Amino acid sequence: MDKSQKLAGLKQKMQQDMSLPLRSGATNLVFGEGNPDTKVYFIGEGPGYFEDQQARPFVGQAGKLLDKLLESINLKRADVYISNIVRFRPPENRDPTEEEIESFRPYVDEEISIIDPDIIVTLGRFSMNKFLPGTKISQIHGQSKIVHLNEKKVTVLPMYHPAAALRAGAVMLQLQKDFQEIKKTLENPPETNDMEDKPVLKGTSIEESKDEEQLKLL
Ligand code: URA
Repeated sequence: MDKSQKLAGLKQKMQQDMSLPLRSGATNLVFGEGNPDTKVYFIGEGPGYFEDQQARPFVGQAGKLLDKLLESINLKRADVYISNIVRFRPPENRDPTEEEIESFRPYVDEEISIIDPDIIVTLGRFSMNKFLPGTKISQIHGQSKIVHLNEKKVTVLPMYHPAAALRAGAVMLQLQKDFQEIKKTLENPPETNDMEDKPVLKGTSIEESKDEEQLKLL
């Protein structure tokens, strides 16, 4: 089974999972989309009005900005994979609760393990918290962090959410600058670089490293 088939199976499983929260207030399940063979996996917060209507992630104003940011580093949506931490729209676009995020977690984890990306770009604090718990976005945005995921080292790049950039010019400038880090990481992957000098973090929901040396760097 190839990655697309595995993702289609996962989507079907989600559609049939009546235990998932937020379903009753939503129009559609918003599954991830893009190139399953990509190196770059983007993860936002949850669907808004337009995403809920169209059953596609990041198609509203924040999505249009995401498209432009991708263009600025010579990437298209079709080159990457775009997803969300929760897959049904929270009512009135409120923040997802911890319980809701937890309910979707097994699906998010499985999606990531199918895609097997080298770089995970978190958009906003909810997806950042999944991989880098206890951190503050204002302090670590744009800084690459190495996490152990499915027995491999993955670069996590925490970024501000595009919706926050639409509300504040300073955040927009920062987000534009931080996007250049994606390009740099693709051009100069940490495996061939000075990764041992960088902090190695482990996320809450990811497999713990068996490598004692790496953990000492926490
Ligand atoms: N904001 C998100 O976090 N995700 C979307 O899909 C759209 C807007």
